[in-house]
Amino acid sequence: MKNNNNSENHTNSMELIFDSKSENESFARVVVAAFCARLDPTLEEISDIKTAVSEAVTNCVVHGYEGGPGKIRLKCILDENELTVEVHDDGVGIDDIGQAMEPMYTSKPQLERSGMGFSFMEAFMDELEVKSGKHCGTTVTMKKRIGVNN
Ligand code: ATP
Ligand code: MG
Repeated sequence: MKNNNNSENHTNSMELIFDSKSENESFARVVVAAFCARLDPTLEEISDIKTAVSEAVTNCVVHGYEGGPGKIRLKCILDENELTVEVHDDGVGIDDIGQAMEPMYTSKPQLERSGMGFSFMEAFMDELEVKSGKHCGTTVTMKKRIGVNN
């Protein structure tokens, strides 16, 4: 049953801002795994979520800020058994989102990127939405329902 009162329903949320550094990729994925632990996810679900978060944060570091300084915002919401993860950067943005999301497309082949980050996020989560524009930063929103697909 739905109600709109946060104090009475089963929602929980958190928000975190951290530096755009590759060492924070592992930090972010552990944080999200810990946040959704009370839903008792399977090892496979935890692994899927960690991979997706890691890919999204890596993209902020490598592409959004191109290895330079910047802040990454991670937001998580639990609503009943559904986890929403939003990863945002204020970096260079994506010109052509359709092209960027194609499997094996990468704008940085020289860095030996395989262009599979978005494909992994799509495969491991139930929903993926990308909002971006040139010089407008990028927001990746992913949803996963825990304990329903097994
Ligand atoms: P891989 O993830 O396999 O190492 P990749 O990062 O290039 O390679 P994707 O994660 O699928 O592949 O991203 C595809 C492309 O989308 C990137 O090459 C980049 O051009 C663009 N992109 C993705 N995330 C961002 C971002 N946060 N800011 C700017 N551009 C991005
Ligand atoms: Mg990537």
